[in-house]
Parts: sequence; structure tokens; C-alpha cells
Amino acid sequence: MPLSQTTAPVLALILSLVLPACSNEPDPAIGEPAATAAQPAPATVSMPLDDTAAVAAVDTLRLLAADAEPGSWMSYGRTYSEQRYSPLNKVDAKTVSDLGLAWSFDFNTTRGIEATSIVVDGVMYTTSSWSIVHALDARTGKHLWTYDPQVNKAKVKHGCCDAVNRGVAAWEGQVFVGVFDGRLVALDAATGKVNWEVATVDPALPYTITGAPRVIDGKVLIGNGGAEFGVRGFISAYAADSGKMVWRFYTVPGDPKLGFENKAMEMAAQTWNGKWYDLGGGGGTVWDAMAYDPELDLLYFGVGNGTPWNREIRSPGGGDNLFLSSIVAVRPATGEYVWHYQTTPGESWDYTATQHIILADIELDGKTRKVLMQAPKNGFFYVLDRTDGTLLSANNYIDITWATHVDMETGRPVEAEGARYIDSPLAVTPSYLGGHNWHPMSFSPQTGLVYIPVLDFAANYGQPEEFVYRPGVANTGTSGIIGSLPDAQAERDAIRPLMKGRLLAWDPRTQSEAWRVEHNGPWNGGTLVTAGNLVFQGTADGKFVAFSADKGETLWEFPTQTGVVAPAVTYEIDGEQYVSVNVGWGGAYALVFGEYVQSDSMPNVSRVLTFKLGADGKLPEVNWRPTVVFNPPPRVAQEAVEHEGFGLYQDICMGCHGLNAVSGLIIPDLRGSAWLHDADGWNSVVREGLLSKNGMASFGGHITREESEAIRAYVIQQAWRGKELQEGVAIGD
Ligand code: CA
Repeated sequence: MPLSQTTAPVLALILSLVLPACSNEPDPAIGEPAATAAQPAPATVSMPLDDTAAVAAVDTLRLLAADAEPGSWMSYGRTYSEQRYSPLNKVDAKTVSDLGLAWSFDFNTTRGIEATSIVVDGVMYTTSSWSIVHALDARTGKHLWTYDPQVNKAKVKHGCCDAVNRGVAAWEGQVFVGVFDGRLVALDAATGKVNWEVATVDPALPYTITGAPRVIDGKVLIGNGGAEFGVRGFISAYAADSGKMVWRFYTVPGDPKLGFENKAMEMAAQTWNGKWYDLGGGGGTVWDAMAYDPELDLLYFGVGNGTPWNREIRSPGGGDNLFLSSIVAVRPATGEYVWHYQTTPGESWDYTATQHIILADIELDGKTRKVLMQAPKNGFFYVLDRTDGTLLSANNYIDITWATHVDMETGRPVEAEGARYIDSPLAVTPSYLGGHNWHPMSFSPQTGLVYIPVLDFAANYGQPEEFVYRPGVANTGTSGIIGSLPDAQAERDAIRPLMKGRLLAWDPRTQSEAWRVEHNGPWNGGTLVTAGNLVFQGTADGKFVAFSADKGETLWEFPTQTGVVAPAVTYEIDGEQYVSVNVGWGGAYALVFGEYVQSDSMPNVSRVLTFKLGADGKLPEVNWRPTVVFNPPPRVAQEAVEHEGFGLYQDICMGCHGLNAVSGLIIPDLRGSAWLHDADGWNSVVREGLLSKNGMASFGGHITREESEAIRAYVIQQAWRGKELQEGVAIGD
């Protein structure tokens, strides 16, 4: 790619600053010959590793000029604007048919894979489940090092949505990973050795980290998750060189009697009622999206749902409950509050605003505006003025039922009657998994379109019969039984076609759809868009696909052998463009909606797949599919006990083992468990942590033996249901 006259001087400056020691010696660490003087110089700055060159030499200047070295992918969203648009165009709508598998790298895991890979100075840094970091030669896939933070697998009970990790940040020779148990770890990028690590949360509380850190001016930014369980959300900044905390911004107020950390918390407290601080802390975790505008010097982040979801319980008497479900702008040097926009005031549906934030300069009404765009869970696409948070436009990107529209005078959604399910249960669209979840979208300045991985289905919400706050387990404040699947199989089957998902191309200027591609199910990959007029996306049913960015025509696809939820990246080394995606089925939908994923039963095969033009690599065959073998003991419990077990199961077990005891088969389907036959063994597993090394934590501190027995009775009932269904007996009709 020829350098334009405007980018060349910037590039020369960057080169002189960050690549003073590049030599042409062969690289013993990688075993691939480096470019020699006789070969044409690469047009981009991707340089091979050698003994003296810095690795992961990312810094402010280089990140600000990321467009001058499109061959790299130096931060989570490629640039601080998080557009996930690549200027690379050797792979384009014409050549993409020649794209083939260049290399693959197997992860040793069977849990969900969500990471965006970072590619810089010839090395790919990526993560697999359990926050394990891998460094690979980006050209060949050769393994360089792996860092395993040795997460205690029992900690997974504090994760709403699988043992996932969405990637690392690179900065001045270090790689940073947020670990599932709440640590932030700095690794030497050359060796994978730990430089420092800090606990960013109180390890006794149900916080987790799944999101990727970002680095601004030497400060590593990291949030956390846990609002389903009961925590007080915050985002922190740590000095990259020492691990010392620089600032922390809480997203919800603590107990007012104890005073406020800052004026923003004092303001937020005016919007709360009751004793939310005694119900786990209010929630509002910052578990994913961040973006940065260097010119305005503003860091933007998205804030999650409340603990519990149900505002009637969380804040009796109402209130907006700031800063739940908000986009917040702060100064990155100090964490000082600047502005906020709340997408779902007084949220009650798990409508987080942690979804991907994209910054762009787009033309609206004849004027170029600095905008911030988000498609949060609540189903509205927002365009804000990112200088001050003014709402410029909002429109629903899927058909929604909880609100009719956003009032442009007040900037607030106009809620549908009964949407808060106070007087009667209600099916609401979007569901608690949102119209769009964590899967990154992308924005092309070429087409002006945003490419959104959309989920489109409803969930049932209702008041719990009685709310008891249970520390350390899920506390949604909604009825698990009302949220369950219908009993009649015919009714369950009728829901299947309603569990929709699609790739949606959305025009933010007109707030309207440009095109759509329907997928087989809701839980598909994040998107990447390139200057080659291509959108890349993996799918739940095991394909990695290239669509034309302007029209949505399918131009190429590759069978991935497993569901894909992670987004792709692209980079260039020695003039050759690579497209890489992490594959491996998992995450919230894959765990919870077993009823609708089990029949497809894609195995989890966790890998990096990297493609380039002219390659023709093949994957080894995968000749297994997960299944359930039913062999339940007789049903001896009373129906009332089975029903009690049903409620407990839905509240405590469902998040991992699946709605109505139908697992997504990423983790065991309890209906096939041999422990069903053995009351003492079941108790050892459920209450004493017999299998905690495998990730089945002890729940002895949360439920009694009698309650655990009731859950066993319910699972036995459901195992018989599954067995009869498998044998062709009509169920529930
Ligand atoms: Ca949530």
C-alpha cells in the first residue's frame, strides 16, 4: 500500500521513535528469515522480531498514528476510536475467493473463546478461556510463549457468562491481561514472565474480569463484572510501569452515611432509594466497552446493569439509579467525571450499556459532528455528540417491546405500559442478553455503515414470589420460574424460530437499516470491516464468512468446525495481508439456551485460524459431537419438592447449566449425570466442592442439603423428560 503524502512524515517520525534498532539479521526467536536489503521494503511498519528490536513497543505516538501502520492491530479496537475498520485492502471483494487457511493454533480448552488478538512487531498476543495469554509468530503461528495465571476454577461460579476473556493490551514492551479472578497482570512481552500483578478487586467478593484492558498515556484501564451476583461497579487506572493504582471511579454510590468519593457520586445518590448498598452494592459494572478521544482528552466507558436487575427491589420508590446503563466520560489522567448519558433510566431488564462504543466523525445535517455511537442491550442505536454527551439521534435497531421510542426533548426512552413487570409477568424484547451484546460491531468510513451482530428474541420477566438476597450467587430479583421455558415441547419448538440473530448494516446518519443477513441463531461473532469492501464475521453454526460491506453479499466462507463468537482482526507482514479469528463456541447464550443450541451441538474446538491469499491449509477432522446419555434413577420425590428444586435450579444453577436443566453442552448436562443416582455423592459435588478443580464450586455456603436434594429431584424429573423425548414420547402435551 503506497504511503500517502500526509501519512508518510508521520510514519517517518514513528519509525525513528520506535524502531531505532531494527536489523536485518535472521531472527533466532522465530526461525524465519527477516527481510533482506535486496527485497522491496515493506510498505507498512510490521517489522520482524530480532534480538535488539523492541517487542510490543506500543506507545502514545504510535497508537495515535495507528492509521499510518495499518499492518498492525495494536489495541483492542485497532485504534482508540474502536472502529475495527482496517485500511488494508489486498484482500478485497475480488480477491477474497482466493483466501485460505495459512495457519492455526490450538488452545487447550473447551470453554468459550471471545478474544480480539493484538498484532504488533510481528507477534500476535491473544487469550483463551481462563485468562491464559499466548504469544505467537503472527506470520507462521509458531508458539513463542504462554502465560497461565492459574485461576482457581471454582471462581467460575462468580461468572455470569463462561470463563471467557476478551484480550490483552500492549504497551512499551509489556502485555496486560485482566484475569478472571480480578487480578491485573503485566507480562514481559518478549518472554511472558510476570513483571507485576495487582488485585484490582476484593477477592472475597463476586467480581470477575473478562474484558480487555486499554492503555492511555501509560495508564492501564480495567473494569470488572459481577452485577448479577452483587458488587459495586468501578473502573480503575494503574501505572503501566509499576502497577500502582492512579485512580478509581465508582459507577454507583455507596452508603450515603459513609460519605461520597466525589461530587459525581453525590449527584448519583439523589437518583437512588432504599438500601441498594446492602443488596450487594447496586451493580453498574464496567465489564467491556471503552473508547478514547485524544483531542478532547476524554475516556468513554459503558456501565452495566443493576444488582438486582429489578428496580422495584433495588431502589423501591423508583429513581434513575445513576450511573447504571450509562455511557460516562471522564478525564483519563485523573478519572474526573465530565458527562454521562443514561440509556435506560432505572433499568430493570439487565439492559447494560457496556456494549461496544465507537467514535467517528460523521456528517449530520450538513455538518461534521464528533459522535459516539452505541447499540446497547436495550435495542436503541444512539448517536451522541461526544464533546458533551448531547443526544443527536436514537432509533431502535430491532423490534422492541419495552419502549416505544426515545423522546428527543428529554433524551429519555418512553416506556411501554407494564414493561416493568410489576403487576404481571411479561415477555419483553430484547431479552436480558440484549439486542446486541459484547460482540464488537465495526464502522467503515468508506460505506458510512455500522455492522452490528444483532440478537433478536424475547425473555419472560416477572416478580419473584419472595426475594432473599443470597451473597455470592445470582441475585436478579426476577422469578427464575417465570423466566423458564414452557413445559410443553410443542411450545418450546414454536419458540425456536423466534430465537433470531443477524448481521445488520446500520446507517447512523439516517438511523436506518442498509441491509441484513439472517443467521441460524442469535449468538454470532463480532465484526471486522476493511477497505477491501469486506465485512468478516463468524457464525454460531460454524462458518467464518466474508460479506461485501456495501451490499451484504456472501463472497466467501470457511467451515470452522465450531461456533464463532469472537471478532476477526487483520494485519500485514512483508506486504502480505492476514485475516485472523479466534474460534470456539461458548459464552452466555451457549450456556443458558441449551434447548436451542443442543440440537445443533457444535463441539467447542478452540483455536486461532489465520488466513491469507493463496493458502490452502486444512484442519484435522472433528468427528465428535457432544451428546447427553440419559440414565436417570426413578422419580421418588414429591412433586412439591421437585417444584422447589425447579425454582432453586433456575435461580442458582441455570446460568451455567442451562434453562430447565438443558445444557448447551459446553459444560455437563446434569440430566446425564451419574451423580443423580447417589444422594451423598451429589451433596459432595454440589455442597462440598468435590469437583471444584473442574470448575464446579461448592455451594454449601448458599444452599442447605435439603435444597440441594430438591435440585437433584428436579434434575431427575427433567432427565426423565429428556429420556422420554429422545424415545419419542410426547412431552407436556
Ligand atoms: Ca448483566
